[in-house]
Amino acid sequence: MARAVVVGAGLGGLASAIALRRRGWEVAVLERRAHADEVGAGIAVWPNALRALDALGPGARARELGTVEIGGGIRTRSGRWLARVDASDLRRRQHDEVVVLARPDLHALLRAAAPAVREGVAVARVDPGDTGRPAVVHDDAGGRHEAELVVAADGLHSTVRAAFWPAATVRDTGRTAFRLVAIHRLDAGGESWGGGDLVGLGPLPGGRTYLYAVVPTADVPAGADPLPWLRARLAGWHTPIPAVLDAAEGPVLAHTLADLRPPSSWHHGRVALLGDAAHAMTPNLGQGAAQAFLDAVALAEEATADPASLAGYDRRRRRAAEAVAQRSRRAGEVASWRAPLAVAVRDALVAALPARASAAALDRLLGTPGDAPGDRAPAGRTAE
Ligand SMILES: Cc1cc2nc3c(=O)[nH]c(=O)nc-3n(C[C@H](O)[C@H](O)[C@H](O)COP(=O)(O)OP(=O)(O)OC[C@H]3O[C@@H](n4cnc5c(N)ncnc54)[C@H](O)[C@@H]3O)c2cc1C
Repeated sequence: MARAVVVGAGLGGLASAIALRRRGWEVAVLERRAHADEVGAGIAVWPNALRALDALGPGARARELGTVEIGGGIRTRSGRWLARVDASDLRRRQHDEVVVLARPDLHALLRAAAPAVREGVAVARVDPGDTGRPAVVHDDAGGRHEAELVVAADGLHSTVRAAFWPAATVRDTGRTAFRLVAIHRLDAGGESWGGGDLVGLGPLPGGRTYLYAVVPTADVPAGADPLPWLRARLAGWHTPIPAVLDAAEGPVLAHTLADLRPPSSWHHGRVALLGDAAHAMTPNLGQGAAQAFLDAVALAEEATADPASLAGYDRRRRRAAEAVAQRSRRAGEVASWRAPLAVAVRDALVAALPARASAAALDRLLGTPGDAPGDRAPAGRTAE
């Protein structure tokens, strides 16, 4: 049986471990954190991600555990709707809606379906191997792990990517995202834009709400307690944003937002890049994890014990995921405009866009329900 080592037990690493095992690989998952559990508030799982989860197994359970988006769209900070997304229309076109889950629940779901994770094992370097010899993964405790395939799913600051693709560096966007969960039952979700800030709302199970806010990093005072700061910053925004902030429970997470200069390829010897290690993107389209799930499905379908097979994975996924990352970056820039004239023109254009045109753009992003996740599915290939 061919052996695969997956570096990193985030959403992408676990998805690839599940996919590879289903194709007959013997899989080891190495995670540097002592406890691989995911922290975090919510996560939106779009129909393309749900289809990939169906191909991996846990799709139905993800739909059960999450809450279906109650419809939403884009609003101004005063609450005026610029564009609406009709949940039933999305369901008609995509056969699914957007499901919002607590992030730890999604991670736990994948973890339960994945091979056991070896926690506290940090990968220090990888000998990529080639056709004639296996790859060797070296951990920082002196351990050696031989494999016919190494999946670098070690995230935005990937150690493995830095060794073989040094030009694929991290780009800071100059923006910071805050995320929290509140005890609040939402009537409508979506995003609101105003004066360089952006606030998103999504419904979580149990009458809870997932709120994220993205602001220019330069405006965030060093050492500020994030919750009172956000309450003051967003005090004049439309309902229910102030009420959601007042009902926040648990910690507020803060991350500076970054994406990646695209690597020139996604494979080197027996090493394949996957997830954020390959295409970290800004969260504006809610597609980072979705694209990682599509990577996982495609990688498992394409990879064999012959490293030349990784070119097929690269062909199927690299340009497609890069296009989504680029679109996400652009969406983040436009949503963060501050100049009043530019904001007025943007808002007018978004409001004037026919619903059909935005639906078509969304369908191009999400693909067609009948298509196999990750573009196409060569029949019955398994690891040798
Ligand atoms: C604010 C925000 C909101 C988002 N919202 C959405 C959303 O709504 N929908 C969506 O689809 N996506 C969303 N995303 C994107 C999504 O969170 C990521 O794309 C996804 O979690 C990436 O998973 P990953 O497994 O590739 O990387 P990671 O989650 O970063 O996992 C990498 C893992 O590798 C481990 N690791 C690192 N180095 C080593 C090493 N040397 N040895 C061993 N282990 C190592 C790390 O500890 C970590 O566990 C959002 C992102 C952000 C920042």
